[in-house]
Amino acid sequence: MSYRIAVRALCDFAAKRGDLDLRFTPSPSAQEGIAGHQLVGERRGERYEREVALRGSYRHLEVRGRADGYDPVANRLEEIKTHRGDLSRQPANQRALHWAQAKVYGHLLCVERGLDQLTVALIYFDIVSQRETPLSESCSADELREVFETLCQAFLAWAQQELAHRRRRDRALQALRFPFAGFRDGQRPLAETVYKSIHTRRWLMLQAPTGIGKTLGTLFPMLKAMPGEPLDKIFFLTARNTGQRLALDALRSLGAERQRLEGAGPDELGCDDIDIDSAAEAVPLRVLTLTSRAKACEHPDKACHGDSCPLAAGFYDRLPAARVAAVERGWLDRAGLREIALGHQVCPYYLGQEMARWADVVIGDVNYWFDFHAMLYALSQQQQWQVGLLVDEAHNLVERGRGMYSATLDHAAFRRLKPTLPAPLRRPLSRVASVWQALAEESDVEYRVLETLPCKLINALQQAVSQIVEYQSEQPIALDSELQRFAFDAQHFCRVADVFGDHSICDVTRQSARGRQRNAGARVTLRNVVPAPFLAPRFAAAHGGALFSATLAPEAYYRDLLGVPEGAPWVSLASPFRDSQLEVQIAARLSTRYADREASLTPLADRIAEQFQARRGNYLAFFSSFAYLEQVADRLAERHPQIPLWRQASHMDDDAREAFLGRFETSGEGVGFAVLGGIFGEGIDLPGDRLIGAFVATLGLPQVNPVNEQMRARLQALYGHGYDYAYFFPGMQKVVQAAGRVIRSGTDEGVIHLLDDRFAKRESQALLPAWWPKPITD
Ligand code: SF4
Repeated sequence: MSYRIAVRALCDFAAKRGDLDLRFTPSPSAQEGIAGHQLVGERRGERYEREVALRGSYRHLEVRGRADGYDPVANRLEEIKTHRGDLSRQPANQRALHWAQAKVYGHLLCVERGLDQLTVALIYFDIVSQRETPLSESCSADELREVFETLCQAFLAWAQQELAHRRRRDRALQALRFPFAGFRDGQRPLAETVYKSIHTRRWLMLQAPTGIGKTLGTLFPMLKAMPGEPLDKIFFLTARNTGQRLALDALRSLGAERQRLEGAGPDELGCDDIDIDSAAEAVPLRVLTLTSRAKACEHPDKACHGDSCPLAAGFYDRLPAARVAAVERGWLDRAGLREIALGHQVCPYYLGQEMARWADVVIGDVNYWFDFHAMLYALSQQQQWQVGLLVDEAHNLVERGRGMYSATLDHAAFRRLKPTLPAPLRRPLSRVASVWQALAEESDVEYRVLETLPCKLINALQQAVSQIVEYQSEQPIALDSELQRFAFDAQHFCRVADVFGDHSICDVTRQSARGRQRNAGARVTLRNVVPAPFLAPRFAAAHGGALFSATLAPEAYYRDLLGVPEGAPWVSLASPFRDSQLEVQIAARLSTRYADREASLTPLADRIAEQFQARRGNYLAFFSSFAYLEQVADRLAERHPQIPLWRQASHMDDDAREAFLGRFETSGEGVGFAVLGGIFGEGIDLPGDRLIGAFVATLGLPQVNPVNEQMRARLQALYGHGYDYAYFFPGMQKVVQAAGRVIRSGTDEGVIHLLDDRFAKRESQALLPAWWPKPITD
């Protein structure tokens, strides 16, 4: 059996040495890179061959790739690299890597065309000045073969263990059995539907209610499909950390962690909650959790290069040993990865990025696949992996997708930065400042939508980013510095501007300078309304997958906004719960509209108290804003002081969040006040009598404001459903998610009070889960 590897991956593995060094970044975007390659190609003669597909082998390694260009007249092979910034500052190890790639292509070309000699050239193309800097070497075929063979030899042992791992993994997955005695109600059809979709290389939209066991019910069939399809990787993507924990638990129940546990003594395990004897058979699966750089960084006050951070210095020299330790461990959750990284003195964040190449299941945020610079997507394209994707809590992808393809420039933050600017950056940033100020002063209105992009500002930002990159190559800039943040924001803004279209709006919001109207600044936003054009190619790039959630209705809304491939079935699975477990009451004579808020306070407080007296226990009460929450909580405390209550605060850290949830004790009594759509509105699990009821005192409609009105208008123009898409559907989705906290298992019983007359309308009730009993309206 041969092992296939791309030229680039071979060189990345075997030819990288020295420090991790991000000073010569930000590198050009993918679009800039493609445009740069095209332009260089167009400058060549007619006989110039572009994108030359090459392949060759060494023992059981099969190496493939596409050389950028070959000029048969000059007998010259070219490897084109786009860049921005001063080339003389490029780290030596990066240059060496590029030479390795060019020479491997050179060898493959010599073999394929029977050449004895070849000129190998690196063409560095500056995307800002559009100038080429060529570096060339004349090489004999023997010299090139030696380079190729040395790199292949360095990779062979690794390739062997990779092949052996894959054989073991696939054998174990073929034999894998469901870890529990039986499927839960609804879990088998869920697993079968996911299996069929991946087997037919399709996407699936799956509305699966709470209680089915979605995480295990989707991961299990995906793993079973892995050997047959075959899949190289499974990516389990989530919008919240809670989903990641559930995915790890599910994989643990399948025996993925057991291979590590079996080799460890009790002290090393440091835990007593895993019963090795009763766990599933060991499955040799490499599982990796990806953590953001902000959370994984060990030195946030430093910059990512060897002169600044000790974990970047010599990173590539120590990486091979860390990589071996990581694959031996197999189970790379955040703590495990960190332990290995620090044990080998390498950065945990960048070790995680490296291990994504060698893991079987990667668990991470949705941005690793869907956003502009999505690492997992880029790697998959580069390595041509067959990937099965599972997207948990997929209803969040509308808002998350919008966020990924939107960009904001905040004038106030920029002004704070100005006095601290280093001298070499003052000029380019002054230009940004004056163009930005002129834009702010074009109009007195608080909020306006621009007909066209602010091109002068974008040009000034592009130049400023180049200068910051230059400066950064000499001077470390801490990851958390204002200047670094501005550089990231400005670069992101320029990239979003490059792909601006009907799916987005560009708006300007006036920001007054310390309350004065003169010299007011302006926040400029490129606001994505429909992420579908960006997400659709990402769906298409996977072998197949499933988007799943307890709330993925209405179907058309999610199809339109997410860009799910045509023909992807939408399936809604029946709930395992009985309608007798739940009582739903609608307060049809109560209005929580803004104008009626004051009048609603006492009726709301009394209704909560009445329910509490009727059945004492723990309840959650949801409101549209912190202000409303406070008002009703105060009124309840005033009129019914005997009822214990606790409130969500606007900024809660992990401890405060845990303390809030900790109040929901088994057999406890009281009312937790929370905001709809906030951290307690979904993704929390309070089974049994930890929660016996919920009050939802709002339809969850986004606030009517100029921004949302613009979104409504754009959605109306695109789909003819402006109000529903901008307000009603997102609002009701939050209501159903929040109310879904009440019944979490087949033995739970509870009550949901929907407190607004609009819940009594047919269109609202059409969006409530089908298994809910008919509401009692009063
Ligand atoms: S530890 Fe932090 S500063 Fe150092 S290389 Fe990693 S991310 Fe960069």
